Amino acid sequence: MSKRVYKFSEGNADMRNLLGGKGANLAEMTNIGLPIPNGFTISTEACTDYYNEGKTINEDTQKQIFEALTWLEGVQGKKFGDTENPLLVSVRSGARASMPGMMDTILNLGLNDVSVKGFAQKTGNPRFAYDSYRRFIQMFSDVVMEMSKTFFDSILEGVKKEHGYTFDTELTAEDLQDVIAQYKAIYKEKMGEEFPQDPKVQLMEAIKAVFRSWDNPRANYYRMMNDIPYSWGTAVNVQSMVFGNMGNTSGTGVAFTRDPATGAKGIFGEYLINAQGEDVVAGIRTPSKITQLEKDLPECYKQFVSIADKLEKHYRDMQDMEFTIEEGKLFFLQTRNGKRTAHAAIQIACDLVDEGMITPEEAVCRIEAKSLDQLLHPVFDAKALKNGQQIGEALPASPGAAAGRVYFNADDAVAAHAAGSRVILVRQETSPEDIEGMHAAEGVLTMRGGMTSHAAVVARGMGTCCVSGCGELKVFEEDKYIELGGHKIKEGDYISLDGSTGKIYLGDIQTVEASISGNFQRIMAWADAARRLKVRTNADTPEDAANAVRMGAEGIGLTRTEHMFFNPDRIPKIRRARGCPQRADPLPEGRLQGHLQGNGRPSGHHPLPGSASPRVRSHH
Ligand code: ADP
Ligand code: MG
Repeated sequence: MSKRVYKFSEGNADMRNLLGGKGANLAEMTNIGLPIPNGFTISTEACTDYYNEGKTINEDTQKQIFEALTWLEGVQGKKFGDTENPLLVSVRSGARASMPGMMDTILNLGLNDVSVKGFAQKTGNPRFAYDSYRRFIQMFSDVVMEMSKTFFDSILEGVKKEHGYTFDTELTAEDLQDVIAQYKAIYKEKMGEEFPQDPKVQLMEAIKAVFRSWDNPRANYYRMMNDIPYSWGTAVNVQSMVFGNMGNTSGTGVAFTRDPATGAKGIFGEYLINAQGEDVVAGIRTPSKITQLEKDLPECYKQFVSIADKLEKHYRDMQDMEFTIEEGKLFFLQTRNGKRTAHAAIQIACDLVDEGMITPEEAVCRIEAKSLDQLLHPVFDAKALKNGQQIGEALPASPGAAAGRVYFNADDAVAAHAAGSRVILVRQETSPEDIEGMHAAEGVLTMRGGMTSHAAVVARGMGTCCVSGCGELKVFEEDKYIELGGHKIKEGDYISLDGSTGKIYLGDIQTVEASISGNFQRIMAWADAARRLKVRTNADTPEDAANAVRMGAEGIGLTRTEHMFFNPDRIPKIRRARGCPQRADPLPEGRLQGHLQGNGRPSGHHPLPGSASPRVRSHH
């Protein structure tokens, strides 16, 4: 029998290939004595087995899963599906490389018609128990059965409306039982069978769903963009639940040890009181700043800060942490090296050197070469900005300046971009499904969602400007217009965003390129001291050459003449000089223009003999 299941206490941070990043770090945190809810990890090898064996989980692995479950019941003193004290678990994906929001997680698994009663009694809080059950039905149906969320949303809205409620929190235990009955009815109607009552069936289905989610389109797209191999597979973590939604001494949040946008030292994050984890990351409620926790629950905040500090020193890097407080008791649910903007990466690397935590050479290695591109992204031209009319301000979720035409969904954004427009994608809330639209956009603006909402994280990873959580923005996605600061802005109209300040402007404000200075220069000097390669540039014009020298190039490695020839004033003369009889006369104006669209190269033209293969240049 090959080992496929590992208790958290059996793993460590070096086992990320086998346990995934989340599993390996849960194991590491367990071993350094931090408060982690107990659990176990089903390895990435089990995921590979699953795909090799016709999308099934073999008996060996199943046996190991159930053994681990029995162990978990023992340490928690609870039983799966129990009528008195049921064990509830989360089933969480976790690949080797972090892929925030790209795969699925299921919470509150183990509830059914019977155990929900035991749960209500044990917690003395029927409202909470029934709310957990209705959340579970909704998540299971969505993630495992791929039923549309809208069925459930409209039932919930219906019951709220019937009673004249505005907030979910106004629903009573009885109301929630009504919601559950309706959820189960729609499940039966759409799926042709009852909602599964056996917790072991729920568990196996959920594990398979996580394995399947490795292959969903958004995960595939994310992997393609980030060079993550398909063959790696995901691990699955099964972890006993803790509850951030048990009242006003409970809560849940996400925090970084340093600001992921600027790199500034200090706890930076968001949390929601009386809420379950997905509420924060899904961007449904706009959360409070973490400093609010210091006022609400000072003891927890103190403990949080001390553990965060410990984790940062342990991993010697900025940490991105997920936590939940259950009735005043703090639990950590995740830590990882935090994603950050290139600007923050440079700040943090320099600070860690100054704090004696890493060496200058390590600092250079900490910076992803690809990310430096972000620093070369534009900022607003200072003069143009003076005349800019600010119409709103929200969270500076991902830096850089961008101006473009507004579009309201991913498809329209992709189409407009393909047609040559600069695009600003505007959404009510960011959601991982928008990833292709975000990729096509110069900037992203959302009405809801915090700095740690998944799409804000993804925008930072892409180096795309993003302003999020703009409460006063009204987005009419169907009718394709927005209202902000007393202005109505229709599809195709220009707005400008500053992802570093969160400011939103009317119209098309000119942007300018950034330069190498400050910490950037410091890092580049450390790189210069260690490097053995010399850097030369590709430059085809005098402007390219001047720019390359400004950026530190030591020479020109490749120059191609054709860009100079393709200048519309010159090309007819060049053609005549080359003695092309069929092209002795200049092309008509319109045709030539058409030829020069897109990447600045004539389409359908073969490169001149001896020239390098075409290089794609982006002229955004
Ligand atoms: P992602 O990889 O998308 O971040 P996670 O597996 O981290 O997904 O789960 C999302 C959120 O669900 C977590 O941030 C946490 O708040 C909540 N969660 C997951 N497992 C548990 C648990 N055992 N108890 C309480 N909350 C949990
Ligand atoms: Mg997470």
